[in-house]
Amino acid sequence: MRLDLVTIGDLNIDTLLQLPHFPGEDDEVPIVKKEQFAGGDAANIAVAASRLGLHTALIASIGKDTDGRSLLKGLVRERVNTNGVQIHAGESTGTVISMVRKDGQRSMLSYRGANQLLSIGMEQAALIQRSRAIHLSDPLPRIIHPFIEAVGPGDPLISFDPGSITAARGLKAVLPLLRKTKIFLANKAEYTLLTGKRKLTDAVDEIRSIGPQIAVVKLGRKGCAVFTEREYLSVPAYKVKAIDSTGAGDAFDAAFLTGVLEEMPLSETAQFANAVGALATTRIGAQIGLPTRVQVQELLSGK
Ligand code: ADP
Repeated sequence: MRLDLVTIGDLNIDTLLQLPHFPGEDDEVPIVKKEQFAGGDAANIAVAASRLGLHTALIASIGKDTDGRSLLKGLVRERVNTNGVQIHAGESTGTVISMVRKDGQRSMLSYRGANQLLSIGMEQAALIQRSRAIHLSDPLPRIIHPFIEAVGPGDPLISFDPGSITAARGLKAVLPLLRKTKIFLANKAEYTLLTGKRKLTDAVDEIRSIGPQIAVVKLGRKGCAVFTEREYLSVPAYKVKAIDSTGAGDAFDAAFLTGVLEEMPLSETAQFANAVGALATTRIGAQIGLPTRVQVQELLSGK
């Protein structure tokens, strides 16, 4: 079967700990509540797009452990193709532990673990060649060349969201990928980090001059801005009762790509992505709050 979207990047177990206060040195703090969720940027996007109706696959890497097995089961339940998920016996599945204080303040611990062992082998290349679109989230520098080789002479829609880690590496590290990218998505801080330019329009111009035809700026509760050669769109966010913005950026990316693949006009695509991003903030956890198509339609039609 032809795939609509393959995502490449992290797959994690997210643990959320509610604490009365953060631990100091030599301290022991009782945990008020502990919850675990599936997470990881690329996994979130594959699941989000699948809930919106696309045929998706994930290219990621996990450990041979219970966390990894439970993540795989979850992906299958969400109808995400997992043929490209590698299992590494000698490493643990990546994890992010978020400690949330009573007043909502957050501190995080992250272990990239098996995510760091990701490679583009034959199985992964086959998925890349079968898909209409491929999205990379915060890619490991060493997979960029193998990825471009796997794409070969084909001309799939490539989209790229650097996240803060890749953005901090600067433009030089991602030039070959940017040249192939059609849609670039990031928040304001990441545009500045990546280009070194403080003024957003200068940063956007620089990115667009390298390759991307569409540059999208995610603006949190202010919505988003979209820049193309011919258009500039500023699209306000939907008003929702936001309680946890984890995964909102990933949900937004998935929806934006869904709109483009469904050939929605650009302004409609941006509104659709804002709606999905907004809905993702209304529940705790990255994937659990991802909306279905019906829920998005309800928000869009003002129900
Ligand atoms: P990132 O996590 O990549 O920085 P954002 O926090 O900007 O991404 O969130 C992505 C998108 O989700 C925003 O562009 C917006 O459409 C939506 N969004 C995020 N936070 C809110 C909010 N509080 N209210 C409404 N929409 C939101």
